[in-house]
Amino acid sequence: MAEKLLEVKNVSKIFRIGGMLRGKKLVAVDDVTLSIDADKPVILSVVGESGCGKSTLCKMILRLHTADMGTITLNGKDFADKKSYDPLQFKLDVQPIFQNPYESFSARKAVDTYLFNTALRLGIAKNKDEANKLVDDALKSVGMSLAVVKGKYPTQFSGGELQRVSIARALITRPKLIIADEPVAAIDASMKMNIVNLFKDLKDKYKVSFIYITHDLSTAYYVSDYIATLYRGCLIEYGPAKEIMDNPAHPYTELLMNAVPRVGDKWKEDLVMPEMEDKEYSISYCKFAPRCPYATDECRKERPKETFLGPERKVLCYHPLYTKEG
Ligand code: SF4
Repeated sequence: MAEKLLEVKNVSKIFRIGGMLRGKKLVAVDDVTLSIDADKPVILSVVGESGCGKSTLCKMILRLHTADMGTITLNGKDFADKKSYDPLQFKLDVQPIFQNPYESFSARKAVDTYLFNTALRLGIAKNKDEANKLVDDALKSVGMSLAVVKGKYPTQFSGGELQRVSIARALITRPKLIIADEPVAAIDASMKMNIVNLFKDLKDKYKVSFIYITHDLSTAYYVSDYIATLYRGCLIEYGPAKEIMDNPAHPYTELLMNAVPRVGDKWKEDLVMPEMEDKEYSISYCKFAPRCPYATDECRKERPKETFLGPERKVLCYHPLYTKEG
């Protein structure tokens, strides 16, 4: 079996909303299992509408939240064992890219300061000359350069340019995994493909895997090697992007697919789902049943178990629209 870079196994995260006595439990991430192999860099997109649990999952992988159940390991090191993962090594191995680049950089600091700090404070460059080269190389790999960026403040860049600088900063540590949480959400539509294309180039050039968290399905389907679809905290479908695009197996994935712009279409707005209800998070049967056109009595009795449709493909549904037999 291939060695794993990242392994998320039966992970759940539960939040309590309201008071201690009358409050409710909200299962934001519900028994999610997925992994990324160590020997083959990939782009794994985690998709779903707002509140589906994708950002909570991302925060657990970044060690900003702890899992309430299940295990997360990176390079075989269990996050729950604080001693097993040196925080500095973790910062080198895993880098985040956040949604709004203007919030990632202080308006009062020249942006190159952040790149130099990453290079020098994390001990990647031993001196200023080495740092100059590292920073310039990283910026060049995202289509910029130190000569262009030096001494400039965030407001002197467009959102797309500043997100490129964020990506360059993340690359300085030569990470194995970059977690990009809605990195194109705050960017002009015309620049979105530009940024996701960069992920594709960098994956091969730097042998880095990406977890691309997004509700922007058109970019996800375009850029991904694998897609994980979340619904109300559950991983309802997972597999190679092309297979899922050609033959979605879960009714919710089919619904999402129908909202993706096709070639020649104008850019559409995001899929609008009915207002989310807290109680849907704690449904003990299929969470999609209240909205599923294919629901049967069986679906309203118990939560479906994962069904494997291929070596790398699984779905959480009693009546998948696509099966191994076709
Ligand atoms: Fe629909 Fe049933 Fe599948 Fe749930 S298990 S998605 S209700 S068909």
